Amino acid sequence: MSYSNSDRPLVEIRSLVKHFRLRGGWLTGRRIVLHAVDGVDLTIMPGESFGLVGESGCGKTTLGRCILRLVRPTSGQVIFDGTDLSELTRREMRHLRRQMQIVFQNPFSSLSPRFRIFDIIAEPLRTHKVLPKLPRHLLYDRVVELLEQVGLGRQHLDRYPHELSGGQCQRVAIARALSLDPRLLILDEPTSALDVSVQAQILNLLVRLRHELQLTYLFISHNLSVVEHISDRIGVMYLGKLVEIGPTETVFREPLHPYTRALLQSVPLPIPGARKEAIPLHGNVPSPANPPSGCRFHTRCRLATDICRTDEPPLQEIAPGHLVACHLVGN
Ligand code: SF4
Repeated sequence: MSYSNSDRPLVEIRSLVKHFRLRGGWLTGRRIVLHAVDGVDLTIMPGESFGLVGESGCGKTTLGRCILRLVRPTSGQVIFDGTDLSELTRREMRHLRRQMQIVFQNPFSSLSPRFRIFDIIAEPLRTHKVLPKLPRHLLYDRVVELLEQVGLGRQHLDRYPHELSGGQCQRVAIARALSLDPRLLILDEPTSALDVSVQAQILNLLVRLRHELQLTYLFISHNLSVVEHISDRIGVMYLGKLVEIGPTETVFREPLHPYTRALLQSVPLPIPGARKEAIPLHGNVPSPANPPSGCRFHTRCRLATDICRTDEPPLQEIAPGHLVACHLVGN
């Protein structure tokens, strides 16, 4: 569901590539190139919640960081609300970054243990000079308002992160991310470090905040159940590439890419009998330093044929808004 009538995407990613050059072993001294993100095209509309799923190491976190320019893409473009981020100066990027914030997986490591909760949430407001000359009591009011928005209160202001539970720390991290009134929140596995019972509370909080504040989400997770709960659309990523994109309900009811079907095996069926026959997932993800030729999934796909080993399948629109990269789909 979108909360804006704007036809312009809030985020537009064009042919994005991010390769990391690493030093090889001391014996060979050869450079290794990690293909973290390898030619991704994606749009996220204002007010949309887009879920990005895939196994660990598939490049989804790197993609999120490229959007924020926490890492510089090797090539390709990230366009935020019509502005090509590669054309911005450091100062302009810093200013624009107020509109895009990130919540990390581990709240304990993302909050400074030396600061009280008040200072942690007030820090972005001070750094970005949002409230530079305001009396302290207005800053205090704003921090309390943010805490209450995430289900905490003024009794938490003077505490330190180690005095809070994991769920409470993640609420503080969310409050801090909201402090600058962002339009885009990148949520990088925000519940995976939490107990199962707390995960549901944080997810419900994120659903509520999105509605109340009309936020746009890029929700990154390896857990399809979590993504299903919060996303309008889903993108499935494998070894640096998007292999399937579609509305959440469509992808869950009618997954078409063998990798998506394999991932969905472990997720309880929302509609009994709705899903296609499961495809078992064999082996581990190949190294992004040496991705397979052709379809990158062919080393694990029991449906692979000769063409899969040589030709890369393009991401094609199979039905309105449903895109799949597989030689066996849509041909
Ligand atoms: Fe499997 Fe071939 Fe489709 Fe790749 S292109 S997912 S290897 S069938």
